[in-house]
Amino acid sequence: MLTRASPLADLRIDGARLWASLMELAQIGATPKGGVRRIALTDLDAQGRDLFARWAGEAGMTVRVDPLGNMFARRAGADDALPPVGIGSHLDSQPSGGKFDGTYGVLSGLEVVRTLNDRGIRTRAPIEVCVWTNEEGSRFTPVMMGSGWWCGEFTTEAMYARADVDGVTVGEALRAIGYAGDAAPRMFGAYFEPHIEQGPVLEDADTLIGVVRGALGQRWFDVVLTGQDSHAGPTPMRLRRDAMAACAKITLEINRIANQYPDNARGTVGFVQVKPNSRNVVPGEVRMSIDLRSAEAATLDAMVADFRASAAAAAAEARCEIAIEQVVDFPPCHFAPECVEAVREAAASLGFGAMDIISGAGHDAVYVNRRAPAAMIFVPCKGGLSHNELESADPAHLAAGCDVLARAVLARAGMA
Ligand SMILES: [Zn+2]
Repeated sequence: MLTRASPLADLRIDGARLWASLMELAQIGATPKGGVRRIALTDLDAQGRDLFARWAGEAGMTVRVDPLGNMFARRAGADDALPPVGIGSHLDSQPSGGKFDGTYGVLSGLEVVRTLNDRGIRTRAPIEVCVWTNEEGSRFTPVMMGSGWWCGEFTTEAMYARADVDGVTVGEALRAIGYAGDAAPRMFGAYFEPHIEQGPVLEDADTLIGVVRGALGQRWFDVVLTGQDSHAGPTPMRLRRDAMAACAKITLEINRIANQYPDNARGTVGFVQVKPNSRNVVPGEVRMSIDLRSAEAATLDAMVADFRASAAAAAAEARCEIAIEQVVDFPPCHFAPECVEAVREAAASLGFGAMDIISGAGHDAVYVNRRAPAAMIFVPCKGGLSHNELESADPAHLAAGCDVLARAVLARAGMA
């Protein structure tokens, strides 16, 4: 265990080198507004991967690529038979994405290896820096495709057959950019994913490090309310079948439900389509989305039951029919206590302010955690803004998160 008394107590990564690498990678697919457009399995994605592979080679690592294009850059350990400690994230971006989402996790892993090389530090277990394919899901669904495949959630055949809007499949795109490999998946002894928070909590609390304990479970629903179109004037209130009235009531119920649970519950109605959408017609049909999230499975179940009952009551009150279809069921993720603890202790040993946090979004680490002990490290991003070309982070914050990563990795990999 690494403590203040350890000879490595002054171990620091090179924040300027990390920043320079982030900025160099951000040139690939750079947008005029200062963001990045590097969509999965395009030529630009390949250029980003090639640059990472070159840097990994220069740092003495060997790179393997698996059938989904996931990359694993390996630094040998003193006991190379031990399962590696993984560090990773993704290099693909949203169509109008930022410079730090994903790349920060990958290049932090590279920076840790460069720092260990500079210091001549040998770890007992190997270290593997990973690039997961198609985390963003903007060109091909599902999101987190590479890590989901790695943990056994999706088959190769099913993923290869997924097509983009032009009919190009994942299998074709992987072969076209030369990243359909044949490396067999290997297990990690531990896995860490540093990431910008993509939300406002750390900045709001003026705290440097987020010790990520898990990720919210998500249940998404499509709801169709069917009433009857009728004239807004001649139709008395008691004889209406107003689908919009039911929709409005359900929206308020979703907010009531999410507000009554303390453990990070969220409820959102983000999509509403009203028919016929005319100012003097009682709406006969509404399609709406429901997004419920919580850190605890039992809470999520209770929220869903409450939603179903209150939605049925709201529909009945408006004399409408209701159809509810569940379209996403993603269980809450609880990261491995030993990895979470390694992050917490690393932050404390560096004297950094840290707080526990639950990720509201999905990340590759969530899938990795299904098979191997994993955790994440969050650092603040400006204004909580992400999936935006204006995404920004403080170089000092990025360096601090990478310092935490280095110590957490050493704690789990051991020193030779
Ligand atoms: Zn990301």
